[in-house]
Amino acid sequence: MRIRVLGCSGGIGAGSLTTALLVDDDVLIDAGTGIGDLELSDIHSIRHVFLTHSHLDHIAGLPMLADHIFEDNLATPLTVYAREETLRAVQDHLFNGVIWPDFAKLPSPEKPMLRYRVCSPGDTITVGHRDFYAIDVMHSVPSLGYTVQKSGGTFAVSGDTKSNETLWPVLNACDDLKVLVIEVSFPDEMQELAAIAGHYTPQTLTDDLKQLQHDPEIWLTGMKPGEESRIFDQVLAAAPDKNIQMLSRGTILQV
Ligand SMILES: [Zn+2]
Repeated sequence: MRIRVLGCSGGIGAGSLTTALLVDDDVLIDAGTGIGDLELSDIHSIRHVFLTHSHLDHIAGLPMLADHIFEDNLATPLTVYAREETLRAVQDHLFNGVIWPDFAKLPSPEKPMLRYRVCSPGDTITVGHRDFYAIDVMHSVPSLGYTVQKSGGTFAVSGDTKSNETLWPVLNACDDLKVLVIEVSFPDEMQELAAIAGHYTPQTLTDDLKQLQHDPEIWLTGMKPGEESRIFDQVLAAAPDKNIQMLSRGTILQV
């Protein structure tokens, strides 16, 4: 399994693009502005999108992606998986016929270019020999993390979350956990804002990391632009014994 990081920033500017991870060549986890870097041929290969939640930095590219598939009249629709609340938000506020066409009804309701599938915490969805397992996490809106399991190893992504009791038991149950991509949006000095916004800081993340019983590669994501170095230094200082790196656009993760 190969994960290509198209975007992993908490905002845009200075070369930063927002969250989008391409799993092999056909599945996206989140569809932030990072998908704008894809070649047309890459876009045509994508048939599944797993959304972590409804925030714009994770869905901003989805309308354009659907538009491509419509214009090119591809035979297989794009399937979007997410919590019920997330799908409702996408339908009501993006593909509502005002902001963007309702591609779940075009070119016809019987044969649309976009379809929605509810994915609730605890669900496993198998896409081409990879099992996507949905994990409840704790953000300011209903949100999911995912593990992606294939023979040979498991990849996990937290989605946006603050300290929680639900992610870590799932990760500990994955004996072959190879790579963990985890959010840490704000530096410790902004803990109050992080708590309100539902994000980790270096302190809260490294406290929770003590529960992790495996030793995967840990990649930090979702940092606010301009704060990356400060956040990374604070995480390393608080967890010097862990295998922690900073994710960047273009990183390729192999599992
Ligand atoms: Zn968010």
